[in-house]
Amino acid sequence: MTNPRTRELIEKDKRHIWHPFTQMADWLKETPLIIERGEGCRLIDTEGNSYLDGVSSLWVTVHGHRVPGIDQAVREQLDRMAHSTFLGLSHPPAIELAERLTAIAPGGLTRVFYSDSGSTAVEIALKMAYQYWRQVEGPDTRRTGFGALGEAYHGDTIGSVSVGGIELFHATYKQLLFNAWRAPPPYCYRCPWGKSFPSCNLHCADEAARLIALRGPEMAAFIIEPLVQGAAGMITQPPGYLSRIAGACASQGVLLICDEVATGFGRTGTMFAVEQEDVRPDLMAVAKGLTGGYLPLAATLASETIFEGFLGSFSSRRTLFHGHSYTANPLACAAANANLELMKSERMIETSPSREAVLAGALEPVSALPHVGEVRRRGFMVGIELVADKSTRAEYPYGARMGHRVTLAARRRGAIIRPLGNVIVLMPPLGMTAEELRELVSITREAIQAVTEAGEFAEIGG
Ligand SMILES: *Cc1c(COP(=O)(O)O)cnc(C)c1O
Repeated sequence: MTNPRTRELIEKDKRHIWHPFTQMADWLKETPLIIERGEGCRLIDTEGNSYLDGVSSLWVTVHGHRVPGIDQAVREQLDRMAHSTFLGLSHPPAIELAERLTAIAPGGLTRVFYSDSGSTAVEIALKMAYQYWRQVEGPDTRRTGFGALGEAYHGDTIGSVSVGGIELFHATYKQLLFNAWRAPPPYCYRCPWGKSFPSCNLHCADEAARLIALRGPEMAAFIIEPLVQGAAGMITQPPGYLSRIAGACASQGVLLICDEVATGFGRTGTMFAVEQEDVRPDLMAVAKGLTGGYLPLAATLASETIFEGFLGSFSSRRTLFHGHSYTANPLACAAANANLELMKSERMIETSPSREAVLAGALEPVSALPHVGEVRRRGFMVGIELVADKSTRAEYPYGARMGHRVTLAARRRGAIIRPLGNVIVLMPPLGMTAEELRELVSITREAIQAVTEAGEFAEIGG
């Protein structure tokens, strides 16, 4: 590193900033990248180095960076106003966006409640479901609990963590969390019953259905990440799994909340993941890709039935008591409108299969690597599970930080990626070209080989 400005920025960062999901003691020892610019699907640091954005800036970027149509829409909105409250007032970009969202959403989702992150969108869905049963005609006050999947991730606020199933977070915040009933995750590579698809006949879905049948009368809702459990390590659900869960919920009158925060907006190949199993949730949370990766905006979509459960006189107190200072921020809504318009005009969904084929082809040699246990993919969501021993599927120890080392090796070769434990995640923007997709996968392959076979970054651990 030579640039004195970079040095100064790093020094100030280390003096004042606390980064998310980061062991700051490590951060203080490392030399972080300071990203200054984006160009298409590349990020450029203060030293002028360019990197492929291999995880869509943490799963949010859709077309790329500095997309003229979205830039323009935000600028135009800026010339009108940056913000006005949504409590007691409305504004054009949010109204237009609600119309667009309900038009593309699965059938039956007619109402849009805005917030500003995936966590809040989930939090709101939980509150809606819980409150709905308390105040609907013929209330069912037994329904106070939630069902969810093991290894689920629904965000970092207390309610979202409560329905999440990642043990590390639960262990840390245990006494703050409410209880949730958990069904085993459909983790085929490490199936707890030692079965394999399709001969297993979706045994794991039957287990979940049994739980829903047993606890259904006490469940306000069941929440699920449809098709892919992202943060769990890109656990892809076998075909038919989601619809079986939806069927089990319907038969018990349990509301179904689909958390499409990661999967929404084309990430799995369709606009929303639920479409692939023809599932119609009662509530759906969206965020990440909503603004094309531009600004923080989220939405909880609800059915008319849920919405009507909140109607009544002022003194009935059926109001949803929830709202944020920046609910439905107009700049963010303008970005989202432009993003959705562009997805349509560029035929992003229709043209997905050809880019998916490029990705799938490029990944083939990765599966063959001696320390790659499995490559999982749904659309543009990819998980590459590293293993210490391919034949026994033995895991690398947590402290070895193999995933982290691979991301450092990839950075050295010109790509930004991020691991989830021993799983290397790739989630390229939908707008990435075939050539860039091949380059991203090839860098990733070289990085995996360098770390697992040649011992690059072996000094990192603990
Ligand atoms: C990222 C994510 C969230 C949380 O979204 P934030 O915007 O980070 O709060 C919730 N659910 C899923 C499935 C996610 O991937």
